[in-house]
Amino acid sequence: MRIDCKEAWDALSAYLDGEIDPVLRAEIERHVQFCEVCSAVLDSTRNILYLTADDRVFELPGGFRERLHAHIDEMLQQDSP
Ligand SMILES: [Zn+2]
Repeated sequence: MRIDCKEAWDALSAYLDGEIDPVLRAEIERHVQFCEVCSAVLDSTRNILYLTADDRVFELPGGFRERLHAHIDEMLQQDSP
């Protein structure tokens, strides 16, 4: 089983919640080791969750998801010829 970036992002919230299939989690961990984009996404998402968890706010800031995906699209477009 190999996942691509899109699958990694789709599974990211479940991954961070710890409610994820162990096989999929292993795939994400392997993926972020060689994928700078997903590694950055995982780090920033984890930081946001960590910061917001202090206030027991578990929803992502408004528009975060859209901005995140726009950012990822941008990075991917820069990578591809
Ligand atoms: Zn990736």
